[in-house]
Amino acid sequence: MALSAASISNASRTLSSSTTFSPLNNSSKTITPSHFSSSLSLAHRSSLFRRSFVSQWGRRESLRGHVSRSVKAVLVDESKENVKLLKGDMWSVHKFGGTCVGSSERIKNVADIILKDSSEGKLVVVSAMSKVTDMMYDLINKAQSRDDSYLSAVDAVFEKHRLTAMDLIDGDDLASFLSRLHHDINNLKAMLRAIYIAGHATESFSDFVVGHGELWTAQMLSYVVRKNCQDCEWMDTREVLIVNPSGSHQVDPDFVESKKRLEEWFSRHPSKTIVATGFIASTPQNIPTTLKRDGSDFSASIIGAMLRAHQVTIWTDVDGIYSADPRKDHSYSGEWPLTTFKRTQVTRLDSNAERFFSFSSAVSEAVILRTLSYQEAWEMSYFGANVLHPRTILPVMRHDIPIMIRNIFNLAAPGTMICRPAENEDGQKLESPVKGFATIDNVALVNVEGTGMAGVPGTASAIFGAVKDVGANVIMISQASSEHSVCFALPESEVTAVAEALKSRFHEALNAGRISQVAVIHNCSILAAVGQKMASTPGVSATLFNALAKANINVRAIAQGCSEYNITVVIKREDCIRALRAVHSRFYLSKTTIAMGIIGPGLIGATLLDQLRDQAAVLKEDFNIDLRVMGITGSRAMLLSDVEIDLSNWRELVKDKGEVADLEKFTQHVHVNHFIPNTVLVDCTADSSVASCYHDWLRRGIHVITPNKKANSGPLDQYLKLRALQRQSYTHYFYEATVGAGLPIVSTLRGLLETGDKILRIEGIFSGTLSYIFNNFIGTRSFSDVVAEAKQAGYTEPDPRDDLSGTDVARKVIILARESGLKLELSDIPVQSLVPQPLRAIASAEEFMQQLPKFDNEMARVRQEAEDAGDVLRYVGVVDAVSEEGRVELQRYKKDHPFAQLSGSDNIIAFTTTRYKEQPLIVRGPGAGAQVTAGGIFSDILRLASYLGAPS
Ligand code: ADP
Ligand code: ASP
Ligand code: MG
Repeated sequence: MALSAASISNASRTLSSSTTFSPLNNSSKTITPSHFSSSLSLAHRSSLFRRSFVSQWGRRESLRGHVSRSVKAVLVDESKENVKLLKGDMWSVHKFGGTCVGSSERIKNVADIILKDSSEGKLVVVSAMSKVTDMMYDLINKAQSRDDSYLSAVDAVFEKHRLTAMDLIDGDDLASFLSRLHHDINNLKAMLRAIYIAGHATESFSDFVVGHGELWTAQMLSYVVRKNCQDCEWMDTREVLIVNPSGSHQVDPDFVESKKRLEEWFSRHPSKTIVATGFIASTPQNIPTTLKRDGSDFSASIIGAMLRAHQVTIWTDVDGIYSADPRKDHSYSGEWPLTTFKRTQVTRLDSNAERFFSFSSAVSEAVILRTLSYQEAWEMSYFGANVLHPRTILPVMRHDIPIMIRNIFNLAAPGTMICRPAENEDGQKLESPVKGFATIDNVALVNVEGTGMAGVPGTASAIFGAVKDVGANVIMISQASSEHSVCFALPESEVTAVAEALKSRFHEALNAGRISQVAVIHNCSILAAVGQKMASTPGVSATLFNALAKANINVRAIAQGCSEYNITVVIKREDCIRALRAVHSRFYLSKTTIAMGIIGPGLIGATLLDQLRDQAAVLKEDFNIDLRVMGITGSRAMLLSDVEIDLSNWRELVKDKGEVADLEKFTQHVHVNHFIPNTVLVDCTADSSVASCYHDWLRRGIHVITPNKKANSGPLDQYLKLRALQRQSYTHYFYEATVGAGLPIVSTLRGLLETGDKILRIEGIFSGTLSYIFNNFIGTRSFSDVVAEAKQAGYTEPDPRDDLSGTDVARKVIILARESGLKLELSDIPVQSLVPQPLRAIASAEEFMQQLPKFDNEMARVRQEAEDAGDVLRYVGVVDAVSEEGRVELQRYKKDHPFAQLSGSDNIIAFTTTRYKEQPLIVRGPGAGAQVTAGGIFSDILRLASYLGAPS
């Protein structure tokens, strides 16, 4: 579109035709950026405004006349000739962010909070309704790119506020507000038209446009407060807050001038409740400006400091400051964390409470920090935790005014208090030295490198001089002491210009080879660990880097200031979430937090999961043991979860959300993805292929717990390799439930050996099934009858031959033999099978059971012989450590022998040792069944936790 002088002056006529308030409203006939900056003084304009304002706001004026005596008495010093604003503890300052005032309902809610605050003076800073500032920036972007849709976008802004106001107020108030809104929108249209024509918006034009959201919310809210019979004034902070631009899209408040103006303003509008616009201010030349994106927090702290308020409460949509951004996720790739940088063209994905609460957090362990020092809060906010504008801290810190961060959607949450840290408070020692983590995305690294840089004074100054010349903002600098390279990070959007400036600045040095390269590394993120206590705690960086190493994350650059409040690392952008989770869990989780993978949710595995479900909360509360099942796999389906699986309905979850089982993927998921400090895989199968993975798992640092006998009774060389690895590493392998289910057999044996006792013999009834059968094979009962009864009662395997063959007992014997130091293979153990030879080849269990009675006579004869001698029959396993052999056989015992006293399916194991020689050490109890076996596995899990450092 061609620009004509006529179209410009048209636009300016529309602007100058305005009659009521606009800081731009002057008598000039044309509008140009230079005219804009030479506009009338704000004081003059505001008196003009007030005159026209009185007619529109008659009600407000009349209310002002009713300011109660007590307000004046408390907040105003009337003894002086001029009404003087009293400052101090009687003031409380609140700031409500965009989401807090995001709808008419929410604005009413804010009014309720204000009304309930019993402070003598209340100053309330408000943001624009959520998304409105983004809409305003969008208007500018559209207009300057000559996109006609800016007009409908302005209408949308108008409509949003019109509808909100109609919900909130009525009568004259509504009429006044709408007339003012109408008027502002017309002004905006004129301004945008000028921008459209010029194809460009200056910063002051933009600042003027984008600040309107705050003007409208402040007015609406003050109407609602007044409607509730509380005296209230609204303050256009452009009349009060004076700031100087300080470069890099920041401003510095002029406290002296602002204080003077605040006092003047207050003498004209003494009120108990003041609703002030956040975000907007004026330059000393009275040009409207802003405190830059998210600047309302800063407005609140400047005003809080000027009033010497007792507290500044920042109301937002989170329960306080988290140890890591709870909203950070993979899909969230906007540029919003760059709070301190050029943001005028940035459209931020605005916060939204519903979205937040339904959001599944990347750092699911993020915790609310109850207190933060000013320094820590500053570091967190500087490094992208946009819960707070980074400049917020300084003004209040000077006067020791605490900031409280509160969630307007959860008043029960106590929030985060930012204040001077209390010295030597109880419990401080237990606090993590790292308070929180923050990240900045969309960062690039520049590395200036060359042998000619070392020892040459002025190199750094030349580099950063060039960076300054292009107006870029350096976020982090690192220089190795060899001085061969200087490396710094800056926003990705600025890196091309910086690299070009450096190449041109060092043209000669590059040609001469003194500087070998100016390299740019794109797509980086910055991760900062923040904490005041880091300064006095050795090992923090070691822990941090260790966590990053374990997560396989490469660190590109590092910086730590000597204040030690912050350690900053630069990493690849795609590693950022993983890095954040890795470091966060390392500092925030208890060291006995264990990620668990359960393999084989059959009878035993399922029982274990149910036991874990019932006991997890107690373990966490009372013993600081945090067990998190992250995966469950059967042979066909597996369930993987990024957060711990809800064990109250794991069966349904496996059914509904299960995927095709893949043991390697399962292992990878449980071990690598969660950055929980410890991983254990619990093998509840009887599968030798699963058992063959243990070595690899232990090698990878995964602890293994199992009732599966296959690994320890498999080939000797593999067993020895496994145990050797277990002993060399700090990775644990527990298998108590392989022998005697939950009975302490392996641990008793270990205890004896480790304390120097010498095993002579281990003899026991290791099979619950065979224990039951021989305990009941008495009187006139036939053997087949007792076997059928045991099968019926569920004591046997589906095919009772698996029990009667004795192989299972032989595996237990070999496990105990090897534990005692004997190097035996399973084939070295002679096993007396109770399956009659002719029935061994029969195909089905049913046919076996049918045929078994044919052999009853033989078993009856053996029993009779024993009885005749005063003995009973027992099926036992024996480890003879002296002759270094083992066997499994049917044995006769005297009727007063402990083995003869058993009932049910009890196991009994006798250890004869050099210390327990006359009387063996006997362990007896139920040695089979899902509950006791799962209990045995569970106690191994707790043993693991105590090895990892759980309190006793
Ligand atoms: P408001 O509009 O109320 O000023 P903001 O969106 O500016 O709210 O700031 C609140 C948001 O800050 C939260 O919704 C959260 O996603 C984000 N945030 C980033 N880092 C943190 C952190 N460490 N703790 C809490 N919130 C954080
Ligand atoms: N409304 C402004 C913004 O969205 C200021 C603020 O909310 O803090 O950036
Ligand atoms: Mg904010």
